[in-house]
Amino acid sequence: MNPSDLATPRAHATPSTHSTNASQQTQVQHAGEQHGKEGNKEVGLDFIRAIVADDLATGKHAQIVTRFPPEPNGYLHLGHVKSICLNFGIAAETNGLCNLRFDDTNPAAELQEYIDNIEKDVKWLGFDWNGDVRHASSYFGQLYDWAIQLIKQGDAYVDLQSVEEIRLNRGDFNQAGTDSPFRNHTVEENLALFAKMKNGEFEAGSAVLRAKIDMASPNVHMRDPVLYRILNVEHHQTGDEWVIYPMYDYAHPLGDAIEEITHSLCTLEFEDHRPFYDWVIAKVNTPAKPRQIEFSRLNVDYTLTSKRKLKKLVDDGVVNGWDDPRMPTVAGMRRRGFTPEGLRDFCHRVGVSKNDGIVDVGLLEFCIRQSIENVAPRGMAVLRPLKVTLTNLPQAMTLKHARHPNVDLGEREIPLTQEIYIDRADFEEVPPKGFKRLVPEGEVRLRHAYVIRCDEVIKDTAGNVIELQCSIDPDTLGKNPEGRKVKGVIQWVSASAGVPAEVRIYDRLFNNADPEEGDDFMQNVNPNSRTILQAIIEPSLAEAQPGDRFQFEREGYFIADEKDHTTAKPVFNRILDLKDSWKG
Ligand code: ATP
Ligand code: MG
Repeated sequence: MNPSDLATPRAHATPSTHSTNASQQTQVQHAGEQHGKEGNKEVGLDFIRAIVADDLATGKHAQIVTRFPPEPNGYLHLGHVKSICLNFGIAAETNGLCNLRFDDTNPAAELQEYIDNIEKDVKWLGFDWNGDVRHASSYFGQLYDWAIQLIKQGDAYVDLQSVEEIRLNRGDFNQAGTDSPFRNHTVEENLALFAKMKNGEFEAGSAVLRAKIDMASPNVHMRDPVLYRILNVEHHQTGDEWVIYPMYDYAHPLGDAIEEITHSLCTLEFEDHRPFYDWVIAKVNTPAKPRQIEFSRLNVDYTLTSKRKLKKLVDDGVVNGWDDPRMPTVAGMRRRGFTPEGLRDFCHRVGVSKNDGIVDVGLLEFCIRQSIENVAPRGMAVLRPLKVTLTNLPQAMTLKHARHPNVDLGEREIPLTQEIYIDRADFEEVPPKGFKRLVPEGEVRLRHAYVIRCDEVIKDTAGNVIELQCSIDPDTLGKNPEGRKVKGVIQWVSASAGVPAEVRIYDRLFNNADPEEGDDFMQNVNPNSRTILQAIIEPSLAEAQPGDRFQFEREGYFIADEKDHTTAKPVFNRILDLKDSWKG
């Protein structure tokens, strides 16, 4: 057994928030629903902001200090965005401070790569931390001294039971634990043993430092939890300085106290750990007395929010890295084209409460669309090109149109030439009922240009349509045809002036609203979550720089890929289609 199994090193969310029948149990949270709960006096404040406001009003704190404490064992995901918006948001709203602290007490799973990307992601979301980045590991010396203090006070002892014995003797929910035979070592014995632990004289797993609290406590976390274990692992910050590492539950409250955090906000699974949090603060008697407050985790349907599981998707090659645009990581969502404004708006609408629920991913998509709609220039792209010859177009011409119908984003030039492309889906030889686009001998309007009529359908020997011969109605540029109505409008791109582009269409990564339904979440992966198309785009779109967002008319919102796009070889990711499923 791994020594880190000794004591629930970090709480984990119970998967029960996802039900086996998502449609029955999904509790969609509505905008603003979470506000005004938990007895706050000021309408519109969530329960945490109400506590913070009270503490300022009563003078308990002159300034609020929060912290965002990721463990650098993976990339940040949508769940962390909620925590970031909450911690940095409260600090910003109250003229307070928010620290960024890497909780790096488990070096085996941690990487500098994760640290660098977490910093990048927090900044991209629009937040900045107070002072330098902090590390729990920079407090190892102080935490060690406090451990000595606890031993001297008779509040901690070295246990030489095996990992397995400790686990068995902890008891369970129904049964009290059993005291360790080493529980009544003298202070001197404990000091000597702890020194041996620190000096590497014990094998990993053969000795731990435990708090001396109560093996019969109804709260399992109070049954002499482990404070220190031996890990023969190099640390990314402290190298080989230490072979004993503090447990998260010991390091966290003390890290908060050292940084004079006023409100230590964490997710609900830490509620049962709070008595131990308070025990540590009281026993060490730190000058600062941070207060832990728990709120519910963000769960979103069709979305996995667990670093461990997201890592498996990366490691097994289901996606192309942590920043794959299908990933709900901040890096993935950024590359997908989601905006920091949209993500912040989403967190604001979800609110903060103690009620576990599953948020409709449609709300996230709604917020993202809203944030893009009025800033993204429009353009035409043909994703599945079908050649159209305009037989009577007298000469090539250049049309000028606004880049956006409602916002002044300037104009762009759109070349119209005799050969153009339209989308295959906009022509049907045998149209279904209600089809309003192009059919043999039918008419349709080319967006921003003429009404055209399909005079002839050209096929290859296999019977596939390969070209349409159409004629324009020269009297329809910017006005309706006389005496008849043409309903359909389709996008098009000049064949000679248009630019080939790779377009990546992303769909949900999971087929199941609850990605964790069943025994193995890997079985719920949508095998068709990415489709790559060879498209033709209008020249104005090809001027895009990596990271520029557009609305491709009738197709959706797209972003020039931050890694692969160049003006010579454009690559776009579909952010979202235009259909809104959110029924707020
Ligand atoms: P994971 O299970 O994905 O590893 P974690 O909680 O272990 O998540 P941490 O690095 O400890 O990840 O998270 C840093 C902060 O983000 C913590 O305060 C944690 O409570 C919070 N957080 C993590 N996931 C969520 C979530 N789904 N909703 C809200 N807050 C979250
Ligand atoms: Mg974790």
